[in-house]
Amino acid sequence: MQEYKMKETKALERIVCNGCGRIIAVKHGMPMEGVLRVRQVWQYMSGKDGQIDSFDLCEECYDRMTKQFQIPPATTDAVELL
Ligand SMILES: [Zn+2]
Repeated sequence: MQEYKMKETKALERIVCNGCGRIIAVKHGMPMEGVLRVRQVWQYMSGKDGQIDSFDLCEECYDRMTKQFQIPPATTDAVELL
């Protein structure tokens, strides 16, 4: 005998770039292109104490944002774990 219970699951369906509003496709919970996910918990010493901000940027918006930096982001190669 098999018994089943209805279960509600939360699955990532799509990502919307906060920079340009473009929809980034997601398959099996994985974005189909590069996405920067930011989640910032503002601490006591900031003017936003206790506030949590989050946003997503597509790769184009990421490139546009980082080109405005006075100092470019540090870049290293990710080590692939086997
Ligand atoms: Zn974008």
